[in-house]
Amino acid sequence: MRPQILFSLFAPFLSLPGIGPKLAPLVARAVGGEKIVDLLWHRPTGLVDRRATPKIAAAADGAIATIVVTVDQHVAPRTRQLPYKVRCRDETGFLNLVFFHAKADWLAKQLPIGAQRVVSGRIERYRDEIQITHPDHVVPVEEMASVAIVEPTYALTTGVTARVMARTVRAAVDRAPDLPEWLDAALMAREAWPSWRAAIRALHGPASVAELSPTTVARRRLAYDELLANQLALLLVRRHQRRQLGTPLTGDGSLRRRLLEALPFALTGAQRRAIDEIVADLALPQRMLRLVQGDVGSGKTVVALMAMLVAAEAGRQGALMAPTEILARQHYETIRPLAERIGVEVGLLTGRDKPRERRAMGERLARGELKLVVGTHALFQDDVEFADLALAVIDEQHRFGVHQRLALAEKGTGVHVLVTTATPIPRTLMLCAYGDMDSSRLDEKPPGRKPVDTRLVPLDRLDEVGSAIGRRISNGDKIFWVCPLVEESEAVDLAAATERQLWLAHQFGEERVALVHGKLKPAEKDAAMTRFVDGDAAILVATTVIEVGVDVPAATVMVVEHAERFGLAQLHQLRGRVGRGQKPATCLLLYQTPPGETAAARLRIMRETDDGFRIAEEDLRLRGAGELLGTRQSGLPEFRLADISVHGDLLAIARDEAKLIIERDDGLSGERGAALRTLLYLFERDGAVALFRSG
Ligand code: ADP
Ligand code: MG
Repeated sequence: MRPQILFSLFAPFLSLPGIGPKLAPLVARAVGGEKIVDLLWHRPTGLVDRRATPKIAAAADGAIATIVVTVDQHVAPRTRQLPYKVRCRDETGFLNLVFFHAKADWLAKQLPIGAQRVVSGRIERYRDEIQITHPDHVVPVEEMASVAIVEPTYALTTGVTARVMARTVRAAVDRAPDLPEWLDAALMAREAWPSWRAAIRALHGPASVAELSPTTVARRRLAYDELLANQLALLLVRRHQRRQLGTPLTGDGSLRRRLLEALPFALTGAQRRAIDEIVADLALPQRMLRLVQGDVGSGKTVVALMAMLVAAEAGRQGALMAPTEILARQHYETIRPLAERIGVEVGLLTGRDKPRERRAMGERLARGELKLVVGTHALFQDDVEFADLALAVIDEQHRFGVHQRLALAEKGTGVHVLVTTATPIPRTLMLCAYGDMDSSRLDEKPPGRKPVDTRLVPLDRLDEVGSAIGRRISNGDKIFWVCPLVEESEAVDLAAATERQLWLAHQFGEERVALVHGKLKPAEKDAAMTRFVDGDAAILVATTVIEVGVDVPAATVMVVEHAERFGLAQLHQLRGRVGRGQKPATCLLLYQTPPGETAAARLRIMRETDDGFRIAEEDLRLRGAGELLGTRQSGLPEFRLADISVHGDLLAIARDEAKLIIERDDGLSGERGAALRTLLYLFERDGAVALFRSG
């Protein structure tokens, strides 16, 4: 249960004054949440100083001014194109308030003739007259004090005016209660941090541009709160995992030996190390929680299969869960022939199986006839039961969260968990994404891989790219062509994938070009993919869906349009899709000239290296963790207030403090413990609190 003291913060916007059912969803879009607490986390991006209160004659051209005026006259326009004017005055002169597309009756109510009003906005001189176009504030004189201030400004979306946003956030800030202090007194004193409530007020009440900086004491305190909540939650999950004693899982090695003999290659050193680490973890009477990180093509599948074979050797079960249908099938297609060669049967279970097949598969799993299974999240639905699940491998690709991870692990008692990811995570971020999860790095590529020839090509040389592609196609090669995601009507200049498909189809024939994008139905997507993988289509035009890891050995060219819009990690993932077969591969990064400084640096790095671990570090350096963490793709926690590139020092402190807290009061039972629970709820790490309850 959420502590009562937080109830008001978790109420929907609708409970705020001036927010109706029309405005609420618009504000929600701007702030990225629907609760009042989300408004508190919506940081101002700028400010407007409204403290200058000159007389009309003294108002400086171009400056923001807050002026007391008397309304003189309304001048309605003669045509719709002309603005509506309200003529005002004070003892020094006249001021026109100018409104385009005005609603006359509304203005008559706001600015009745003869009334005194405070108006605030940017002063313009137009011909001989002084005017304010669309004043930001028009209020009765009694409200002068609430207008003549330094006012924060916020990121907006269409339909929400600056004024509405500022007013709404202010109303939320006014609701922020005094919360019991959860921070260590000595730390607060050392850092000169204010209380939570004071910090929230300071965040939304900057008096100068300097106070918008992420390094103010208020912001650092709030960032620390968030990092502490994150670290505590991760530790609690981890401790929960550890507490549930696992059954040591050991096998006689027979299946693994046979697999090694059956493989057409020798394992890399990194693969062997990772497997040894996993096997050692499994043999312990604790549940394993290990991450295997490795670039696309680094050979994670064999590592996962070897781990699953330990379960099979022990007569128990192993499951591999992939984030998408396509990936699940692909894993299945890779694993099944290998497993069959050594006499082990593997099942496939996805949400799109026919109910009857699915039931049959479920029954075989429940009876324990089937030792290994590959699937999607359908694996952890309620109707799926395992006779004796010992190991869950989760191919994360950054699509699952802690909760899904746990859900599959709950399918058995003491299930060991192995997570694999193709996005190398910088060491600093590792901590906030996974806490102290153990990790194995596959930092050695299988031998014989030729680096992908990476070229930077300005977009205006598209025609040359077209002819080069033509030569590759007649050579029997397959081409990936990635266009940035189409977000309906947003960014008109975005090259639409459909348009590119038509352009390519025009040159090479319709049957040679397939298209996949996020709006397709799953079956349509599969059909398009199949045409590309096994059919006539030589070119697959895609939004970033292929990023998740389909394997097409015949693909030798990766074209990325508007490469300057992608992050390094994404570009790296995309490039990893080609060069998996025998033929030399090419990656063409098409960019809009001139690329910005960061984009240019990114593109240069892409040409310099194909080491995913180095690219991840550079990505962090170039983007700043704020941006990196903010993107859904990364799957890392989305911090609202913490920015690892600025608050990195706080992360280590938060981790140490979280450890200390758990060591001292592992029931979070004392007074501070209760305050810390409030902190976890405040940052919506409720999942961890629930675990904590169950012990
Ligand atoms: P990942 O899942 O890490 O992207 P995969 O496991 O799909 O990579 O492996 C990519 C390809 O490399 C597969 O065709 C696989 O058979 C092959 N492979 C894996 N390990 C080795 C190795 N040690 N030597 C040669 N080829 C390997
Ligand atoms: Mg893989």
